[in-house]
Amino acid sequence: MKNNDSEEVDKRKIVKKNGCSFPPGLFQILASFSFISVIIIYLTINSFCNYSGSPANFFTIAVYSIISLSVIFFYFKVSKINPTDPLVNKFKTSKKDKEILEASNPFYCSECQSRVQERSRHCSDCNRCVEVFDHHCIWVNNCIGKRNYRYFLLLLFTLTIHILYQGSHTIFCLIFNATQQSKKSFILAYKYDITILAYIFLSLDLIVSVVVGIFLIHLDLIHIMLLKKGITSNEYLESLQEENDKELNGEVISNR
Ligand SMILES: [Zn+2]
Ligand SMILES: [Zn+2]
Repeated sequence: MKNNDSEEVDKRKIVKKNGCSFPPGLFQILASFSFISVIIIYLTINSFCNYSGSPANFFTIAVYSIISLSVIFFYFKVSKINPTDPLVNKFKTSKKDKEILEASNPFYCSECQSRVQERSRHCSDCNRCVEVFDHHCIWVNNCIGKRNYRYFLLLLFTLTIHILYQGSHTIFCLIFNATQQSKKSFILAYKYDITILAYIFLSLDLIVSVVVGIFLIHLDLIHIMLLKKGITSNEYLESLQEENDKELNGEVISNR
């Protein structure tokens, strides 16, 4: 029993500063691997396209590179920034003061043993309170709060542009190659001129672009709505939970 207690205390001591802390998260590795795969798929499809090597193609690759580098830059920014509430390090209390402060201060975190700001919330994954806590993002292995929220939004928007650009480029390549085969129909041109490998890459790219694109646009719209309301994702979920609880309580009272 004593061993379990000490293990729990040790776990609590590991406070994550940012998403670049070692070891990397499983979803963080998956995100990096997926992004590299998407770039490889783009370049492979580009090589199938009949306009490959032309000046116009160099231009589209340059635009794609700028968008990809922006995604990487914002990803590192979101992951590298430490979003911890600054009061946590400033007002760490001794064990004697703990109980007094806990009872008298509504903005006190017993896990961090410190005063915290009103909109801070404790993240159990990172073991620290985050200033204006939005959510814990498994993909960047870091919490999203006041300090990195703007970079998180820029990451979300550039990622959406990236996937839409990729999908549009694939559709463009399909149409461009088909128009080069003027005597054949669109489907016949691909039936005879494109290898099975190219079909696999084209299909994969279109599926990923559509599925991920819809998901990202949905996320963009949610965060635009939250920005308009001036609340965080966490506060939005808390308000939904409160409404739900009120409705349930109302139902219980009316049933009595
Ligand atoms: Zn805390
Ligand atoms: Zn966290």
